[in-house]
This record gives sequence, C-alpha cells and structure tokens, in this order.
Amino acid sequence: MDCLFCKIVAGEIPSRRVYEDDVAIAFLDIGPWHPGHTLVIPKRHLADLAGAPDALTEIAPAIDATAALLRDRLGCDGMNLLSNQGAVSGQEVLHFHVHLIPRYARNAGMRALFKKEANIDVAAIHRRIVG
Ligand code: AMP
Ligand code: ZN
Repeated sequence: MDCLFCKIVAGEIPSRRVYEDDVAIAFLDIGPWHPGHTLVIPKRHLADLAGAPDALTEIAPAIDATAALLRDRLGCDGMNLLSNQGAVSGQEVLHFHVHLIPRYARNAGMRALFKKEANIDVAAIHRRIVG
C-alpha cells in the first residue's frame, strides 16, 4: 500500500520514534508547530475514524503514555490534542493520526489560529444531534 505512515510503521521511511506498543507508534512530526509536536498512529492502516469507529480507543493508551512522556521530558505548560478527519478538515496524510502539540506559555493559544463561522444556531444544532 502506498501510504507514508504505513511505511513509517514498517521502518521503510525513517522517523523519530518516541513511543511504541503492540498497536500504535508515536513519532515526532517533521514540520512541528511547537517543540515536541508528535503524531500517534495505529500500526494498522485506517484512513480515519469514519472507517473504523474503534480506532481512537485502540490508540488511547498510546496517546496517554506519549502525552505523559512529553509533559515529563519537555516541561510543556499544556497541550493540544487534534485529529483531522477527512480532506475537508485539512487531513493531508490519509492514515489516522492524532497530533499531540505541546504548548508553552510564551506562545499564543489555539484561539489565535481559528476564524469562527458567524451566526451558528447552537440550539438548532443540538436538536439535530439529539432530537
Ligand atoms: P494532517 O494534516 O493532519 O494529515 O497532518 C499530517 C502531518 O504529518 C503534518 O503535520 C506533517 O508535518 C506530518 N508529516 C508528513 N510527513 C511526515 C514524515 N515523513 N514524518 C513525520 N511527520 C510527517
Ligand atoms: Zn497507512
């Protein structure tokens, strides 16, 4: 399969691994937003959660362990967990991954990055989801 992250799992493309267990690996992002930006991925190929609704549960222990490692070793002040799902969301590598982005007090937070859509009717959205 021609998948960049499958090749990283197989060791065919080098990566800077920081964690591995039976089902997941974590490695440093090659284009970090902030120091320690890490990707946690399942070893098996899954494009996104739509195709495998249990995938987040599967890699949750790896996310917990990697987040603890980054906190411990880098002394970050906080962290963003982020996963793009589908090309429309900005996902570029179509092998499910969760970004762990250590945050430091010297930088602006996530709110500085996002432009919110105007006039969202939160009550109507709630009815669509639970009604
Ligand atoms: P996304 O936009 O959510 O699909 O994120 C893909 C991420 O993969 C980006 O943050 C890239 O910097 C990162 N990336 C791409 N190629 C590599 C690579 N060879 N090793 C590590 N990270 C990579
Ligand atoms: Zn893959």
